[in-house]
Amino acid sequence: MQIGDPILRTPARPLSTEEISSPEIQELILEMKATMRVAPGVGLAAPQIGRSIQLIVIEDRNHSHLTAEQLAERERYLQPFHVMINPKIALHETEPAEFFEGCLSVPGFMGLVPRAKSLTVEFLDEKGAPNIIQASGWYARIIQHEIDHLNGFLYLDRAYLRTVTNDLNFERFWRNESIAFVKNLCGSNDAPSTQ
Ligand code: ZN
Repeated sequence: MQIGDPILRTPARPLSTEEISSPEIQELILEMKATMRVAPGVGLAAPQIGRSIQLIVIEDRNHSHLTAEQLAERERYLQPFHVMINPKIALHETEPAEFFEGCLSVPGFMGLVPRAKSLTVEFLDEKGAPNIIQASGWYARIIQHEIDHLNGFLYLDRAYLRTVTNDLNFERFWRNESIAFVKNLCGSNDAPSTQ
């Protein structure tokens, strides 16, 4: 589903443990895994494929487009495939991290998004077993992005809108610039008064 589809603006419903073990949901998890890999993406939320339920999949395994320095700056580490169902998030109070982010439901664009650097998340895994983990760095960003989808939010709702760029111009102008440079050049979101 792409931006403009009402399902992306609708809060998703939680799953019961009976539903989680059903063949239907187990097949959906496999379908989401395949869709995420083909896209390719590092996370996918069920509303993005037209299902308004609290189910997300995450896998971060391809870092070939980033330098060692960029990986370190983002605190980005490999994450094996896993599932989060009915996640409940508590953000840790730290200075936000700001990086460019994109979304499979907003194809062709990226924007600078502030996110909490670390968090705690409680969820059920694909077998319905409860889990609680602490996450930080890029992994914490992925979790926040995907849980936003379950609540009807997109990264554009949080992005500094004047930093939004298409993919081609991201490569051409922004990929190798510092975040401070990007923010300074793009300026604030305060548009002149219309009155
Ligand atoms: Zn997304």
